[in-house]
Order: sequence, then C-alpha cells, then structure tokens
Amino acid sequence: MLQVFMPLNILGFIYREVRRCLIDVESMFKLMTHRPKIVDCADAINADEGFDGISVSDIHFSYDGQRKVLDGVSFEVPKGKKVALVGASGSGKSTLGRLLFRFYDVDQGRISCAGRDIRQLKLASWRQLLGVVPQDTVLFNDTLGNNIRYGNPASDEAELTQVLAHADLADFIGRLPEGLDTQVGERGLKLSGGEKQRVSIARMLLKKPRIMLFDEATSSLDSRSEQAILQAFSNVAKEHTSLVIAHRLSTIIDADNIVVLDQGKVVEQGTHQQLLSQQGYYYSLWQLQQS
Ligand code: ATP
Repeated sequence: MLQVFMPLNILGFIYREVRRCLIDVESMFKLMTHRPKIVDCADAINADEGFDGISVSDIHFSYDGQRKVLDGVSFEVPKGKKVALVGASGSGKSTLGRLLFRFYDVDQGRISCAGRDIRQLKLASWRQLLGVVPQDTVLFNDTLGNNIRYGNPASDEAELTQVLAHADLADFIGRLPEGLDTQVGERGLKLSGGEKQRVSIARMLLKKPRIMLFDEATSSLDSRSEQAILQAFSNVAKEHTSLVIAHRLSTIIDADNIVVLDQGKVVEQGTHQQLLSQQGYYYSLWQLQQS
C-alpha cells in the first residue's frame, strides 16, 4: 500500500509545484507587459533638491468617474512644516497620499511643488524626493539590517547608526542577541506593529527624502509602542516637510496645521488649539476619541 501511496503523493506534490510556478510565470509576464497609466509628459523636467513643500489646489478626484472621492480640496504643506490630515474613515485621506505619489492623477485642480504641477515632473525624480511610512510595513525574509538598508543599499554604517537612533530602534536592536543580523519576516523574528513602523521610518530616512508621508497604523498599538513611534516620528519631522495621515488625534496635536476632511471636502483647518476653540467637527472628533 505504502509503495503505491508514496510515489503518488510525490507525483501530486510535483504537479502542484509545477502548476504554481507556471501561474507565477504567467503573472510575471502580465506584469511585464502592463502599460502604466501614469507616464512622463513629453517635456517633463527633473525634480531636484530645490523642490520642497506641497500645494494642493482645488483638486477633484473620482476612482470610477462617477462617485467623487475628493471634491475641491485645497491646503498647503509649507517647506519644513508638519501638516496632518484627519477625518472619518472613507473621507479621502489615503486617496490624497496616492495622488501625491501619482498612483493616480487628479481629475481637476493641481498638486504642485516649487510652483510646478507634479504632472510636469519626471515621475521617478519626483518619487525619489518622497519618503513614505505606510500603514503596513512589508518585511522581507532577510536580516533586520538588510530590511532597513533596502531604503538605500548604498548607505554606510555611520548613516545606518544615525537612522537607527532617529527611529528609536537602537536599544531594541541592541537587545537582540544577533542585532542587525537577526532574521525577520515570515521565517524569522516577528516584529510588533510598532516595531515594524519604526523599521519603516529608518528605511525611509536612509533614502533621505525631502518630503515625508506618514500613514499612521489604524490598528491599535499599546501606549508604549505609540509613544516610541511618536518619538521617532517627531525626531525626524523636525528636519523634514511632512504630511501625516492620522487616525489618533492625540498623535498630531503638535502639527503646524491640521486639515479636517469630511466626505472628500475640507471642512476645517488650523492648529489643534484653534480647532478645539472653534468647537466644530474636529472638536466633536476629539471629544469622541477622548471618551
Ligand atoms: P481610512 O481612514 O479608513 O483609511 P480614508 O479617509 O483614507 O479612510 P480613502 O481610503 O481615501 O479614505 O477612501 C475614500 C473613498 O474612496 C472611500 O469611499 C473608499 O471606498 C473609496 N476608495 C478607496 N480606494 C478605492 C479604489 N481603489 N477604488 C475605488 N474606490 C476606492
């Protein structure tokens, strides 16, 4: 019985593996032949170090050409300032991030940097200036060090040490027996949501972006993790122009400007204190989160 069962089992395994590989190859060819919708315009120019600060002017956007997701949104992110986007789920915060990276282009209005519509900039040069800390950080099955160096493989040890300090990771890594050589990812050490976001901050810092987009994790973090991320982020925000998509208002009370979105429209903007004293929509969100 075993003599029949074993070869059949092996054949079944080989069949499944070959099928999976063929599907992977098919997906790879699909990806390679995919034509991107966003391409450089004929006279696109390079965005260089002088490009900083963002101006969002009266933008309108719909994913499907029918339902408006952003409806006349305007705000500024001046050079060196920290601006926060807040609003209920589905109000359009992440969509603004996607438009900034030009995963989509606006239907009307414009997003500009240094007086230039970002559609006039070479896409690769524009994205090179941007750094993102996404909600969910992907860790590769590799060492912690290589996961961080992925932000800039050419970085040296001194740069790495500096970003680890800024991202508040130095102590954490110091406590790991294998330090930066610790294997992480699915097949290695599992990091908490907060630790992953700090890895992401370090990764982004190594890239040396001019403008940072920080998409705060929606998942609840314990207050120690939240404080560690906040500390890491405020260390770096001081030296950068930053746009923060915030879900917990307690994390952005120090922002230079808070833009409050509701159903794709800016309903209020100002500092935390200004918005509280207006006793409007932000005030009600704040009250809700406090309770
Ligand atoms: P959250 O706080 O839950 O992350 P958000 O404020 O970031 O929400 P968006 O993700 O920008 O909101 O979504 C705004 C609206 O656009 C929502 O109604 C959402 O369903 C819709 N939307 C988001 N992504 C897409 C997409 N790829 N295709 C179609 N509609 C989308």
